Amino acid sequence: MTSSHILVLYTGGTIGMQASASGLAPASGFETRVRAQQSRQAERLPNWSFRELLPPIDSANMSQANWLAMVAAIRQGIEQDGCDGVLVLHGTDTLAYSAAALSFLLLGLPVPVVLTGSMLPAGAEHSDAWPNLFGAMQVLHDGVAPGVHLYFDGALMHGARVSKLSSEAFDAFQVAPRRRQGTRLAELPVAIDFRQPRQPVNLLSLPLVPGLRASHLRALLDSGVQGLVLECYGSGTGPSDDAELLDVLRAAHARGVVLAAISQCAHGHVEFGVYAAGSQLASAGLISAGGMTREAALGKLFALLGAGLAQDEVERLFSLDLCGERAEG
Ligand code: ASP
Repeated sequence: MTSSHILVLYTGGTIGMQASASGLAPASGFETRVRAQQSRQAERLPNWSFRELLPPIDSANMSQANWLAMVAAIRQGIEQDGCDGVLVLHGTDTLAYSAAALSFLLLGLPVPVVLTGSMLPAGAEHSDAWPNLFGAMQVLHDGVAPGVHLYFDGALMHGARVSKLSSEAFDAFQVAPRRRQGTRLAELPVAIDFRQPRQPVNLLSLPLVPGLRASHLRALLDSGVQGLVLECYGSGTGPSDDAELLDVLRAAHARGVVLAAISQCAHGHVEFGVYAAGSQLASAGLISAGGMTREAALGKLFALLGAGLAQDEVERLFSLDLCGERAEG
């Protein structure tokens, strides 16, 4: 759908940062700078309204509360102010996490949401800020499907499949070519659409490394964590000869903790049955995230557990394809 009135939601990030004694720092008042730059450019752009989430932050400080504030501002822009497209300006460090979280928090939203940011601040020499910002507006104006997208360095990407792969290059974000599988949900349950309020969730992600002990995992799982993304080896394997470690996982699952497995490999996906060392994890209660990224698995767990769903319902919905995060292609 084409957007004629865009909400520009500014959350902070390098794109609007200014120099300070301790380095680049988030700054308010970005709207004036965008309007001034637009008046110097020739392209025709859609109308837009600007909203700033206060205080603007370095996205290294991003939290679940910030995601919920974004959802509230986006809903207000659409439902009360009549906007038909949304552009979120965001720091790049956690942009992929927010794009994934919003993909699941905004399921069923009838208008498109595009996120962007930049590697260099607006106004800096050779900055990518204005091309990214005005390019994203143009994409919305030309027409993009409802759902959450990332526009960066000239590319439009699926919000629930991107990762930041470079801390310097302008094409910092990429869709990792992971194999995905999962049945597409025929109809979105009301319990997880964008109108559903969410509570904060105690969530974490942990990479398996040689030497991980049952005591490490016990300490983590005893901390009150409600969901854990376990970053397994290869096709979903782990230390299957450590009975104590498997017992720790089994006990956590039995008391309601959701345990999701992703692959550590950038081009990987979980298929527990390939190795006996994977089957053991599955029998301890882990569910497969297929080829989902860490960002997508965390965002999806937040949206499902935050909606207050029971463990088995979270596990059922986690295993389905909700917005293309598990689909091929
Ligand atoms: N640290 C900055 C942030 O994520 C980096 C950036 O925006 O590129 O807000």
